[in-house]
Amino acid sequence: MGGVNHGFERLTAQYLFREVAKRRAAYETGHPADEILSLGIGDVTRPLAPPVSAAMAAAAREMATREGFRGYPPAFGYDFLRAAIAARYAARGVSVTPEEVYVSDGAKTDAATLAHLFGDVTVALPDPTYPVYRDAHLLAGHRLRLLPATAENGFLPTPDGLPRTPHVVCLTSPGNPIGVAYDRAGLTEWVDFARGSGSLLVFDAAYEAFLGDTGVHSIFEIPGSRGCAVELGSFSKSAGFTGVRCAWSIFPREVTFDGVPLAPLWERLKSMASNGVAYPVQCAAAAALTPAGLAATEKNVRYYLANARLISRALRGAGVPYVGGEVSPYLWVRCPDGISSWEWFDRCLVLRQVIVTPGVGFGDAGEGYVRLSALGRREIVRRAAARLFGGDTREKAQSSSLMVSYGIKMKNKRLKMTGRSR
Ligand code: PLP
Repeated sequence: MGGVNHGFERLTAQYLFREVAKRRAAYETGHPADEILSLGIGDVTRPLAPPVSAAMAAAAREMATREGFRGYPPAFGYDFLRAAIAARYAARGVSVTPEEVYVSDGAKTDAATLAHLFGDVTVALPDPTYPVYRDAHLLAGHRLRLLPATAENGFLPTPDGLPRTPHVVCLTSPGNPIGVAYDRAGLTEWVDFARGSGSLLVFDAAYEAFLGDTGVHSIFEIPGSRGCAVELGSFSKSAGFTGVRCAWSIFPREVTFDGVPLAPLWERLKSMASNGVAYPVQCAAAAALTPAGLAATEKNVRYYLANARLISRALRGAGVPYVGGEVSPYLWVRCPDGISSWEWFDRCLVLRQVIVTPGVGFGDAGEGYVRLSALGRREIVRRAAARLFGGDTREKAQSSSLMVSYGIKMKNKRLKMTGRSR
């Protein structure tokens, strides 16, 4: 067969955020005086930490000198940044050499590029998931086996029921859109499955900074994982680099799939697909890992988590079932009384002028949920949560009417779902 990649026919239209924008614009046209608040934002809003921007500026000035000018960066990252990332792992007791660290312009780039490593494989993916994993593997012609993330499994699928055959398993922890994280036992189960079945774990740790001093930050904290796992990390959410662009992957020397060492293939692939990351960006990333950089960036993460607590409090007060928001900027919220994600989106927009993200946009199993994000500015988050779920007495009456209009019973509403983590 000639022509274009027929994998495109397997992709669903990229409609989620476009449709959200369309419905918002339609509402705004009809109600120009209304102020719309958003809990739908998936981007950071806090400014770069001063040590980070200072390092970027100094590197830019260095590039303007004869001695300091640099052309193409090394394909896998400057040694200073690879070493700084490895040192960050070492600080958590994880042994990774600088040569196993590959710098990139984004975990999204790595997640998509990774699909080219594999031939005729089956990819196991939580549903809902960060959409890049689904799309990249569909485009590469791989088979997908979806693992529904449901209230029954605490929104953290296990290998139970998966055939003991080689899979590429893509896990994100803490998750997006579902803001819960696997614990050590849950990840050990996955590593045991991978070792026993000849599978590979692709572990996306883009949100690990939100774990603070708790939880499992890296798959390589789990014994036996070096032979069966690779990891993606990112400065996007930890240091506010969504607009700066810097991330990394870890390919241990001993990791294999189908009997083939993967690191040499990854090096071949990355050398083909990228010319590296700008020097000032890598200097900024290294600055984010210094003690001063970490102190400043961790402050931003704590700010988002405080936002998440505001939303949690409002949800609990209104008796709305949800998970997440403890080790993640995202909360995964059940729509009232069995209505669909988009129906609740519309109600939130029309009745409360608040934007939420319909869960079904992340996969079929996300139907009946919405994702709320705590990445916005404190005042906006506070007001949006109060508008939706009540935060003071005046707003409470309003929020009750929103819930009751969906048939939520305000009594007998204690949540089974809160705080589950495994
Ligand atoms: N992985 C997950 C799970 C994400 O949610 C995101 C961004 O939202 C990314 C990766 C992208 O990270 P980056 O900005 O490094 O490309």
